[in-house]
Order: sequence, then structure tokens, then C-alpha cells
Amino acid sequence: MRLSQILISTLRDDPADAEIPSHRLLARGGYIVKIAAGVYTFAPLMWRVVKKFAQIVREELDREGANEVMLPIVQPKELWVSSGRWDRYVNDGIMFTLKDRKGSDMCLGPTHEEVMTAYVNAQVNSYKQMPVNCYQIQDKFRDEIRPRFGLMRGREFIMMDAYSFDADVPGLDVAYQKMRAAYCRIFERCGLAYTVVQADSGAIGGAGSEEFMVIADSGEDSILFCRESGYAANVEKATSKLPDAPPGGEPKPMEKHATPDVKTVAQLEAFFPGWQAGRMAKTVLYHVTWKDKQKIVAVMMRGDLEINEVKLVNSVDALAVRLATDEEIKAATGADTGFAGPVGLPETVPLMADESLRDRTNLLVGCNQTGYHCLNVNLGRDCRMPSFKELRTARKGEGCPVSGKPLEQARGIEVGHIFKLGTKYSKAMGATFMDQGGKPTPFVMGCYGIGVSRTPAAAVEQSFDDTGLVWPGAIAPFECVVAMLDPARDEQKALAGKLYDELKAAGVDVCLDDRAMSPGAKFKDNELLGFPVQVFVGRKAAEGQVEFLVRKGMQKSECAGGDVKAKVLAALGR
Ligand code: ATP
Ligand code: MG
Repeated sequence: MRLSQILISTLRDDPADAEIPSHRLLARGGYIVKIAAGVYTFAPLMWRVVKKFAQIVREELDREGANEVMLPIVQPKELWVSSGRWDRYVNDGIMFTLKDRKGSDMCLGPTHEEVMTAYVNAQVNSYKQMPVNCYQIQDKFRDEIRPRFGLMRGREFIMMDAYSFDADVPGLDVAYQKMRAAYCRIFERCGLAYTVVQADSGAIGGAGSEEFMVIADSGEDSILFCRESGYAANVEKATSKLPDAPPGGEPKPMEKHATPDVKTVAQLEAFFPGWQAGRMAKTVLYHVTWKDKQKIVAVMMRGDLEINEVKLVNSVDALAVRLATDEEIKAATGADTGFAGPVGLPETVPLMADESLRDRTNLLVGCNQTGYHCLNVNLGRDCRMPSFKELRTARKGEGCPVSGKPLEQARGIEVGHIFKLGTKYSKAMGATFMDQGGKPTPFVMGCYGIGVSRTPAAAVEQSFDDTGLVWPGAIAPFECVVAMLDPARDEQKALAGKLYDELKAAGVDVCLDDRAMSPGAKFKDNELLGFPVQVFVGRKAAEGQVEFLVRKGMQKSECAGGDVKAKVLAALGR
């Protein structure tokens, strides 16, 4: 391939909206071109990268016996109603919906559990036909609240999504482990530093799930992990040993105190000496949305700990939660923000509490009266007994739930996610097969996703420098470039052409840079584009000498044309 024939347009400047290296460099290298927020054109070099990654994904999934299919993007509402997910996805605003000319509601697939379940249900009638695992690599559509970071969080993006169908739970466990192993091989082949973490199952639902995280400072996810036990979890899901708090002692009579303008935990600590945050229970009011109703709910948390909204949504099986507004708090409790509490809370407001408050005595709490707080409050005695749930956000430094050693924290980019769905969708949609006894039985399902456009961007986050991209060999647009510094000179053209042919014959994915540009610009452009190995044929071509560059670490050397092939293969690890 000649670069002069490939549409490449590198930019001089970073795009104004690029906040992270992969976005900045992919845009500057002309790899991606934005057409709307979160919607990009993949330029020829980017498409080569995506195709290479997709090929690795295909090879590893095919090795596990998965079948590649292509499902429709445009889907009817009825399908989503049959699984019970239409409302949640529409309510979240994540789904692109449209009407056809007859006025029927349709959507653009944000994920394909429904379509795949309907498809397999129509094809598979007997346990004898299983296990079945089908996948596709296709555009997904999600109207993300904050599309950003280029390919990381797009509104149209490429995903590999796979779905396994088994006759029973042990079958699902086997399918899940096979996919887990395939995922590990995929990310290893790309040379990525990744970790597998316990994850929240989110709107997809199901029994257990793990995420594959590429460790990078720009990652949107926060991971807690323990080197000793190997425990690792997304902070949305993570637990820890409960940090100690001062004991409350024997129950004492409740006291009400005027606390004008004292609203926050920190202000209360200053106002009541000796009452540390761990002896308080803060009460946070949430606006909770379910499919058929909305309510203000009071959530109590030990004063030194934080509420985890993902756990809250799951524990009340809601569509969404958000903090109540000042007006909503006043209407629900009668008091201004900062004074909510379990004491005197109207019966209409459900009261929940984190497990950290179970059996705690003599708490400092709000009492729903502006300007007042209560001391020595005992739950169940001075107020209703709340319903206890695990609602706490685990934090770094707290004890690992397995080893007790302090948890460490890192940021990660979610590149893959595997779920044990069980019978959630098959039951809802009435998707069954005949079991050995001839009885209709719901399929036991798993689902598995990989960000096919996000992963190459994540790879860039782990591999770049001041001057540009540094592609890992496995997904580089070309493994090697042979560049003539002056394509008008015959001896350069001849030597470069010879080296190109030799490398191609040796199985190297090589391109020939025959573009007309100054030598300085050509060096810079190739540095930015980030081909792993770069060979420059310049003035010394007449003597058969070339410049050799290993992009990672910018290791430059001079070498004889005859040595190029061996050096390229060595640099590529062959
Ligand atoms: P996130 O938490 O990042 O929003 P998700 O959990 O909603 O992702 P899944 O439904 O698990 O995503 O999708 C499978 C994979 O698709 C993810 O692991 C991720 O790699 C990729 N992905 C999800 N959303 C996007 C997006 N908006 N842009 C690019 N890739 C995405
Ligand atoms: Mg996910």
C-alpha cells in the first residue's frame, strides 16, 4: 500500500474538545473525524485498526465455537416491551427511538438481548441443539448523556456482543468461563495491561458480571483492588470491611438541640465537640423513579461514609435516582435542606438505612425541623426502624473484604463486560426449549460485550508520547512504514521499493510512504501516525544505508538495507 493513495490528513493542532490523549492524537492524526457529538467517521487508517482488532476478536471467539451473525439495528418496540426494558431505556434517555411511516415505535439497538433471544428461540427447540453462542460486530446506538473522549464514549460506536444459550446453570458456567478465557486472550494479544473486576449488572440485569478494565489515568471507572487477595471490583459494586466508628454506648434519653445554620457533617462536628462523624447518621433525600411511580425516599448513612447511588438503585429496583431538590425536601419533610432525619419523618416518606447503622446507639441525626438536630437517637425507639440495605461506597484504604489489607484504587477504561443473565430474558420473553423430560424450559443465558471502537482508543491511552501515537503491533494500521524522504530521487525510490517488497514477502504488514512532503514533515507525520517500525530511505540510499526507527521509545539507528528485514522482524517480535 502506498500512503500517497490513502486519504490521510493530519492536523497541526489538537481539536478544542479533546481532553484525553487518545482523542487528541486520533483526531490530530486524522484517524477519526467528528460529524456530531459522539459520532465519528473512521478514516482509512482507523478502519484498518478497527478491522485488525475485530479480526482478533473473531479468531478468539470462533476458537470457542461461537457463531458470527448479523442482527438488525432497527428494532420494534414490542420486542423491548416483551422483555420489560422499553420503559427503563426510554426513561434513561439512552435509547434512540423513532417512528416508522405507519406511526409504529421503533428503536436503534443499544444492545441486542431481545433480538438475539427471539432469534434463537425461533431456531432452537431442544436441549440437543445446545450449547449455542452467537455474536456480532456491529454499530450500537446510545444517546449518552455525556458523549466525550472521542471513541471512548460515542453515541454511535462499534461493539462485539455475544449471547450464550444453555440448558442449565452448569452449562452457562462453562460458556461464561470460555468467554472469559477468550477475552483474556484477546486483550493479551493486543498487548494491553488490563484487569478483570467484579461489576454491577446495571440495566442489563442478571446474576453475576465482570468487567475487563484497561488501566489508564483517563479511565472513567474507578476500581478498588487488593494485591494480596486478588480482589478487584468496580467501585459501583465494591465492598470493604466496615471502618470502625466510636461506640455509641448504652441508650440514653434523646435530646433536641437548636442548631441554627448547622447543616453539614463537618459543621455538626464543630458544633457538638466529641460527636465525630462516625456517631452521626446523615439522612439524604432522593427522588426515586420506578416504572409506574415516583417517590421521595430518605436514605440514612453513617456520617463518615458515603452513599453509593448504583447500590441504591439496585436495592429498590428503581429505574433511576437523583438527589431531591430543596423544594422537594421542604415539601416532603417540612424542613429546609440540612435538617432531614429519621425523627419526625412523615410516614409517607420511606426510610432506608445502610447496614453500617444497624445496632448503632445514641446517634446524632436531623429531626425535620429547620434549625434543630437530635442527640442520642436510637433507631426503632425514637423513630421508625428503617429498612437496612448495603448502600455504602467502599473507599481506598479500607480493608479488603477478603484479606483485610488496605484496598488500593486505580482508574480503568471498561473495554469488555461479561454477564451471567440466567433466565431473566428467556422467562420474560417466553423463550423456551424442550428439556430431556420433554418439558418447556427457559434458556439459561449469558451475554458478553467488547468495545470494538473503544478498545483501540484505550490502547492509545496506554501507548503514546509527546510526538504522537505508538501503536501496539497487533492493531497498528501498518506494522511498518518504509518512507522515501525524496520520492523524486530514483535511488531512494528503488531502495525503498525493494525493501517494501522484501518486507511484504516476509509477511510484514508494511506500507510505502511515497508522499511528496519535506523530509522534516515526513519524519514528524510518521511519528504522529505511530507505525511501530519506521524505515527512512534518504540521502544515504546511494550507499545502501537507511535510518531505522522503533517508534516505542524513539530508538533510532542507521543500518544497511540488507539488514532491514531481520531488524524489522526482530522489532515486531517475530
Ligand atoms: P459504560 O459503563 O462505559 O457506559 P456499559 O456498561 O454501558 O458501558 P455495556 O453495555 O457493558 O457498556 O457494553 C459493552 C461494551 O461496549 C463496554 O464494555 C464498552 O467497552 C463498550 N461501550 C459501551 N458504551 C460505549 C460507548 N458509548 N462508546 C463506546 N464504547 C462503548
Ligand atoms: Mg458494562
